[in-house]
Amino acid sequence: MVKAARTIARISAAVLPLVFALAIAGCGSAPAPSYPSGPPAQASYVVKSGDNIYRIAAKFGVSASALMAANGLGSPRDLRVGQTLVIPGSYRAYSPAYAGRSHAFPYHGERAARQFAWPVSDGTVSSGFGIRNGAMHEGIDIAAPAGTPVRAADSGVVIFSGQLHGYGNTVIISHSGEYATVYGHNQVNLVHEGARVARGQVIARIGSSGRTTGANLHFEVRHDNVARNPLAYLPEPPAAPGITYAEGGGS
Ligand SMILES: [Zn+2]
Repeated sequence: MVKAARTIARISAAVLPLVFALAIAGCGSAPAPSYPSGPPAQASYVVKSGDNIYRIAAKFGVSASALMAANGLGSPRDLRVGQTLVIPGSYRAYSPAYAGRSHAFPYHGERAARQFAWPVSDGTVSSGFGIRNGAMHEGIDIAAPAGTPVRAADSGVVIFSGQLHGYGNTVIISHSGEYATVYGHNQVNLVHEGARVARGQVIARIGSSGRTTGANLHFEVRHDNVARNPLAYLPEPPAAPGITYAEGGGS
């Protein structure tokens, strides 16, 4: 009994900073806490020798067509060295820590070396990761009918199973390499804190608990407690045949 209590205490201490970060971030319109205050300034980028529109677009996680449209470029060949480009949909100067923090999807940026499995086998990505209406959306939303199984994106240990403000019924799984995945808005959680789970194991059912407009899974990938773009960590269709992207949702 003593040993079990100690184990749970250690898990709770480890998860506290993460739960705190989640509780203040939420899924809806709350401003991101790590975001600088003051008027937003659109990010810009000065074109260097050897750049092309596709590489620059990938670097910022935006589409090449959106980048061209935002800068009045009729053709990729119109790009000039020394030209300053406005990055559409971004409100922060580029820094490596914010790479890919655009709300755009599908994701065309750099793929992460670590790959997870989709937490839903049949669903529609309805909202991307990144700045949305001036607030940071720290995960992706995957719409699917209420009751659809939610699966562990990789093997690990459940470090939180309960309710979080904004997130509703939430499961957090800790994985090797300081990674954690977060599953929010569940109808019901099916695992308890401290449980070991296998990749693909059903851990919850999709619902609409917390601050959300319909049945969907809010899914986050965190590394060292920092939210990353989950789409960089998940296989793209056709490797994920049941996954589709909502029309126009990424703009
Ligand atoms: Zn969400």
